[in-house]
Amino acid sequence: MTTLNTDHVQNLIDRFRGEILLPGDTSYNEAREIWNGMFDRKPAIIARCISTSDVISAVNFARSHKLLIAVKGGGHNSAGNAVCDDGMMIDLSLMRRVNVDPQALTARVDGGALLGDADHETQLHGLALSGGIVSHTGVGGLTLGGGFGWISRSQGLSIDNLLSAEVVTANGDLLTASPSDNPDLFWGIRGGGGNFGIVTSFLFRCAPIGNDVYSGMIIKKFENAREYIQFHREYVRTLPDEMTVWMVIRHAPPLPFLSEEVHGKMVVAIPFVWLGDPDKGAELIKPIREATESHGEAIGMNPWVDWQAGFDALNDHGARNYWKSHHIKELSDECLDQILDFAGNMPSDACEVFIPHMEGAPSKVPADETAFAHRKTPFVLNIHTRWEAKSDDEKCIAWARKFHSSTEPYAEGVYVNFLSDEGSARVKDAYTKEVWDRLVQIKRTYDPGNLFRMNQNINPD
Ligand SMILES: Cc1cc2nc3c(=O)[nH]c(=O)nc-3n(C[C@H](O)[C@H](O)[C@H](O)COP(=O)(O)OP(=O)(O)OC[C@H]3O[C@@H](n4cnc5c(N)ncnc54)[C@H](O)[C@@H]3O)c2cc1C
Repeated sequence: MTTLNTDHVQNLIDRFRGEILLPGDTSYNEAREIWNGMFDRKPAIIARCISTSDVISAVNFARSHKLLIAVKGGGHNSAGNAVCDDGMMIDLSLMRRVNVDPQALTARVDGGALLGDADHETQLHGLALSGGIVSHTGVGGLTLGGGFGWISRSQGLSIDNLLSAEVVTANGDLLTASPSDNPDLFWGIRGGGGNFGIVTSFLFRCAPIGNDVYSGMIIKKFENAREYIQFHREYVRTLPDEMTVWMVIRHAPPLPFLSEEVHGKMVVAIPFVWLGDPDKGAELIKPIREATESHGEAIGMNPWVDWQAGFDALNDHGARNYWKSHHIKELSDECLDQILDFAGNMPSDACEVFIPHMEGAPSKVPADETAFAHRKTPFVLNIHTRWEAKSDDEKCIAWARKFHSSTEPYAEGVYVNFLSDEGSARVKDAYTKEVWDRLVQIKRTYDPGNLFRMNQNINPD
């Protein structure tokens, strides 16, 4: 473990408004925890920033002491990049302010805010950010990778609604990134992750969705999964962009609308959100309800904040997680064979196979508009491997890897935010060659020394 010069640390503490934590300090262990329980890393120093000036001080300190930097936004990324061994963890989790301008339909969101923070404030005005589906996910990491959720099919990805950002770069400068200020940086942070600096605040366009949305969940029998998915793969692609229907294959949680004997059984869960007239939504969802037999369903008007937190409990902090993912060109029968085979043999009851439908507004944005490259593929296949005991690591990871390679022939590209620690060659799969080359150029401009490398790294060399 690096031994830091105590005078230098004291200098940092003297000009810092947040907290500086060292091993042994009371909050040190709590601060280094992240969502994925697989990572028990111990930074030499944790800088819990509360302001842009703190972020600049932390970056300058880490650079001048040649410390590896790990930036923690929401700490949710399954690859564990929010915490490092030995270096400096720059923790943004105390920077969670969200300021909404209801006239301009915009929200300025701090770099460490969670999606739940954004929902809480924007919903005061009946507005929403296009973001993800678990309320304790960080807006920071999610947005820098792309960001999709229940309303992105009609509103675009989070990055498609990003108007500007404030970025602290590797040499400690504070830059605005927008279409008119540092447009290359603005292009890069929209899909290139945290490679170019630390975003202290984002300015988003919000969508006026109101406070309640027609939404729900239909639980299909796993016995008829093939028949259902053969219907689903065609039908969802005919739906208007305001309707988002996803698919999750997993063991049934103890949902109140399911009879007890279904709890823990393999099922195909079909959650959906419709932005529009509920009667029209009901009409569009009817064929799904009728497609194959269901165990149960709960459909109706739900407060947006409740819906957004509805999947939190299944994704709480601390469990061991290993994710594998790719975009799927076609849910062909052969691809389905693999999905059903592996899904039928999950190594733990907490695993799930998550298949969101992606087409819509994101696929209408030109491929070179942002660094989020794979906009055309209809589905994502996410293998969420989740378990409790360390002794199950090998079995669970092996299942995910085999499952993933079995579906490779049907895949094209990957979403950078769903990558585990899979090596530098795999990071390139998140981008096309043109996008990758441009990202490398931007990295050379803003971080030629690769100070920000604890991420899905774009190596400037
Ligand atoms: C349960 C769960 C559900 C998810 N659901 C969705 C979903 O619906 N849609 C979706 O698009 N994604 C989803 N994701 C993926 C999610 O987008 C990524 O895990 C994302 O990286 C999380 O961001 P974070 O800030 O919480 O993570 P962190 O682990 O804190 O950060 C992830 C990466 O981003 C960097 N970073 C974070 N904040 C900043 C910042 N302000 N400035 C610079 N760099 C920063 C970090 O250094 C790190 O490299 C989900 C993930 C989980 C675990």
